Amino acid sequence: MKSPLLGEFKAPQGKPHMLGAIQSIDTPMRRFTEADEVDYAIVGVGAGGGVLLQRLARAGFRVIGFDAGPFWDTERDWVSDEKGSHQLYWNDLRITAGKHPLAFGANNSGKGVGGGTVHWASFTPRLHPSDFRIHSTDGVGVDWPIRYSDLKPYYELMELELPVAGPSYYPWGDPHGYPYGPHPMGGVGDALIRGCTNLGIGVSAGGPVAILSGSRADRPHCIYRGFCIQGCKVGAKASTLITHVPDAIGNGAEIRPNCMVSRIHAGPGRRVTGVTYFDPEGRERFQKAKAVVVAGYSIETPRLLLNSACPDFENGLANSSDCVGRYLMAQAGNVVLGRFEELVRMYKAPPAHALTEEFYETDPKRGFARGFAIQTVGPLPMSFAKQMTTAKGAWGWGLRSVMMDYNHWAGFGFLGEILPNADNRVQLAEEKDRLGIPIAKITFNLCDNDKKLIEFGKNKTMDVMWAAGAQEVVQEARYAHLVGAARMGDNPETSVVDQFGCTHDIANLFICDGSVMPTQGSANPGLTIMALAARAADYLIAEGEEIFKPRTRNIQKPPMRRDLSPPDTWGHGMPRI
Ligand SMILES: Cc1cc2nc3c(=O)[nH]c(=O)nc-3n(C[C@H](O)[C@H](O)[C@H](O)COP(=O)(O)OP(=O)(O)OC[C@H]3O[C@@H](n4cnc5c(N)ncnc54)[C@H](O)[C@@H]3O)c2cc1C
Ligand code: SF4
Repeated sequence: MKSPLLGEFKAPQGKPHMLGAIQSIDTPMRRFTEADEVDYAIVGVGAGGGVLLQRLARAGFRVIGFDAGPFWDTERDWVSDEKGSHQLYWNDLRITAGKHPLAFGANNSGKGVGGGTVHWASFTPRLHPSDFRIHSTDGVGVDWPIRYSDLKPYYELMELELPVAGPSYYPWGDPHGYPYGPHPMGGVGDALIRGCTNLGIGVSAGGPVAILSGSRADRPHCIYRGFCIQGCKVGAKASTLITHVPDAIGNGAEIRPNCMVSRIHAGPGRRVTGVTYFDPEGRERFQKAKAVVVAGYSIETPRLLLNSACPDFENGLANSSDCVGRYLMAQAGNVVLGRFEELVRMYKAPPAHALTEEFYETDPKRGFARGFAIQTVGPLPMSFAKQMTTAKGAWGWGLRSVMMDYNHWAGFGFLGEILPNADNRVQLAEEKDRLGIPIAKITFNLCDNDKKLIEFGKNKTMDVMWAAGAQEVVQEARYAHLVGAARMGDNPETSVVDQFGCTHDIANLFICDGSVMPTQGSANPGLTIMALAARAADYLIAEGEEIFKPRTRNIQKPPMRRDLSPPDTWGHGMPRI
């Protein structure tokens, strides 16, 4: 018998497909055949792919979303248990290299419908206006081809669609408020607020986080049991699996779970014609499509483009600039842990519920460009054990005794901006995976600016922990959140896609995920990825059939489509902006 974790989406057979305790999909899913030429084949149904799929389906396009992982039935497949959640992550072999190598597995991509949003903590801050122009203002990195004002209406839309809970006045970047009220504080949030307040640092309590602080339609509110990173079985935390995919299916999209796309095919006239993929039984199949969108995230997107090299595109698809795989970024993500006399019980709240962006912008006095955020994290016992092993060298009896002390510890995460660097890149290794696809090899190094920023930010985060009243403070160096490796830009010689995700080289090939981000700021990237996807969808929909013809496009600012939101987006929450 198949393990349930590898199960496929089953059309309702008397029983709906459950997406949370009270949320279900009970519409049969449309099925296309191999003989059908669909309008769009989307590779990856995560943050970017999920939002795009839903909008294209609503606009009436024939669209298939392929995902290498399962279509989760949350009641059947998910458990409130750290070990049992392992299957949510992209655990396939990757080779990691460089002087400051990245760790993979639980610390980056998801695998399955919903992608990384299934196990994200769901902190949803926006980028700051300055993030779009760091080369002009700070002389580092690169400017985006768009400005904050281009994305702002899409940030507001996504904050309603997920929706996002947070304070009525959020003071950093472009100050704004959130549609749902903030969450009550858990022990870690209390500590962050106490530490920041004692040092005179401004702090946001209760969000921004894409977790329901009140019930909405068929989704219940948060019950504060802290399993967000293990997939929220309750359905209170937003993921595209529960916010956008049901609406996509209701509007005629097909999802093909457990289907790994191995190649995109380029045909005559420098155009793509469809994708080759391995079906759940491991058979190689081909799906025709008028256009292909890659949305596999910062490692799998360049891997697929590079592996699709062919005589017309010998260096991989869309790679005339040699930028595919380059400018990969991660944020510095050191975890600082503090021991308190009183009980903290850090599992009793979403890990994401308070933060400060007081250090986000460049301050010349600090001696480095750009900045960082400090956020709550709430590692559950297994992660905590790993962190204590690294941070304190705890082992044997020492590890047992610190684990018995778990309820007295609080965790803060430092989130620092690492700059784009051409040599931080994804390449294809000689080694192949079980399907015969070359494995991704990732090389990562820090520059001087990165090192100075990490040193300063780590120490500041430790200062806040001490100021909160901790008796002991330790830290573990790590990274968080990948972005980049197929960046957007106006110049086809230095970027892979334009501002809407259209590849410069191939008119009907698009990218819609975190890999298009040219820089990353020190905001968690998910909301930005979704906002970019909604903007790209408006562009594709406005161009209509022109997309499928040789490049004849002129739209610079597509009309914004507020009518494409999933049901229940409007008229809920408390708009206070
Ligand atoms: C522990 C953790 C906590 C996080 N917390 C936050 C947070 O609080 N806030 C935040 O903003 N971000 C957070 N993130 C990051 C966030 O999850 C990602 O930035 C985001 O999901 C990336 O979106 P994406 O669309 O680029 O890719 P993903 O959401 O990763 O989706 C990619 C999808 O493509 C599929 N895929 C890839 N290759 C193929 C292929 N060849 N064929 C078929 N399918 C394929 C994958 O299975 C996956 O489902 C967190 C990440 C981790 C690991
Ligand atoms: S704390 Fe809230 S959002 Fe997180 S898993 Fe529990 S119910 Fe879901």
